[in-house]
Amino acid sequence: MPTNAELFVRAQRVIPGGVNSPVRAFRAVGGTPRFITRAEGAYLWDAEGRRYIDYIGSWGPMILGHGHPAVLEAVRKAAADGFSFGAPTEREVELAEAIIALVPGVEQLRLVSSGTEAGMSALRLARGVTGRSKIVKFEGCYHGHADALLVKAGSGLATFGHPTSAGVPPEVVQHTLVLEYNNLAQVEEVFATQGREIACVMIEPIAGNMNFVRAAVPFMKRLRELCTAHGALLVFDEVMTGFRVALGGAHGVYAKALPGFRPDLWVFGKVIGGGMPLAAFGGPREMMSQLAPLGPVYQAGTLSGNPVATACGLATLREISRPGYFEALAARTKALVEGLTAAARRAGVPFVGDSEGGMFGFFFPRSASEGLPQNYGAVMATDKERFNRFFHAMLERGVYLAPALYEAGFVSSAHGEADIAATLQAAGEALRA
Ligand SMILES: *Cc1c(COP(=O)(O)O)cnc(C)c1O
Repeated sequence: MPTNAELFVRAQRVIPGGVNSPVRAFRAVGGTPRFITRAEGAYLWDAEGRRYIDYIGSWGPMILGHGHPAVLEAVRKAAADGFSFGAPTEREVELAEAIIALVPGVEQLRLVSSGTEAGMSALRLARGVTGRSKIVKFEGCYHGHADALLVKAGSGLATFGHPTSAGVPPEVVQHTLVLEYNNLAQVEEVFATQGREIACVMIEPIAGNMNFVRAAVPFMKRLRELCTAHGALLVFDEVMTGFRVALGGAHGVYAKALPGFRPDLWVFGKVIGGGMPLAAFGGPREMMSQLAPLGPVYQAGTLSGNPVATACGLATLREISRPGYFEALAARTKALVEGLTAAARRAGVPFVGDSEGGMFGFFFPRSASEGLPQNYGAVMATDKERFNRFFHAMLERGVYLAPALYEAGFVSSAHGEADIAATLQAAGEALRA
């Protein structure tokens, strides 16, 4: 049986960095990535036969845990009927109907295969609908790796961003404005000076790609007002938060605080595929009908609405729609964060954490007086060495956390009380490591 280290050496010969998505390489924390052979419920097993309690859940999709019997059965059945047809199926319609029923405001939906594809397509649609070019995004929010979205802030607010990746020409990001998350003054200024040129503002309403950072309610409220006043679309990237922080996603969370609140377009992924490649974007019929074949905005995909993926997504949505599901998941996640906070207090380690539904985050601030970070800069200023030590100490104790301090964590409904207790026991030791 090859070890993780042997597999990593072999992988690096044929795959750049040995991985098919960079964060898996453990570059942020150092060490050898675990090669996973199998998963069940709340657990992963690596190539060396070691078991881990999984708090990544494939970065969000595995909300039911791994290998949920009803989902497995749906996938088996669908696979037996055919992997892909390149023609419409009833199941795609069912999935669209299921999502629409859960998210008020979404009237039509197009299914795609990845969050990147969904975000990129929503952006094109927003530009097509408004006839404008400029887009606003926030530092620390990830919307997939489309060229126009791989941007960091320029030197001044009025200037355009710089590509964060080689291979992205400056001209391609010249219409992308990057602002600080939760910074209302910057948003006000950009709208005051360029409001009529902005096609859309794209945001992770609860950001999960700079650990876990909520957009403040007053910030979201004003963002909505400014978009409406200037004819710009507010695009909610709910690839991570959708069907994860609540059944209605982050939109549901903000609509509780702001009655009647809704974005203009939504981007979904992760949970809606239940672990299969599936994502979507949607909104009001009037906007969605601008897409081909009805309208002038082109968008297509060979495997879009794949019959096996849609079966997996549908079965997953059915399970998480059961009464009481999210209450139980949220309570378990909250118990984890509260337990970690208590363990850190006992160990005398500065620590702050937060959660919503089945998504959580925690930070090691550099001083005990600091609260939850509100933007990317504040997240990256937290104690990286402490996080890395904690990550490895937990991994050694059979708890698999995200291998970077800027990633969120995920609890599934397969995580039992005993798993949380074992995690807290490990944390008590790891915090002293
Ligand atoms: C994961 C993620 C994406 C990209 O989805 P992929 O399926 O990895 O392309 C986009 N937006 C957010 C908020 C995400 O978390």
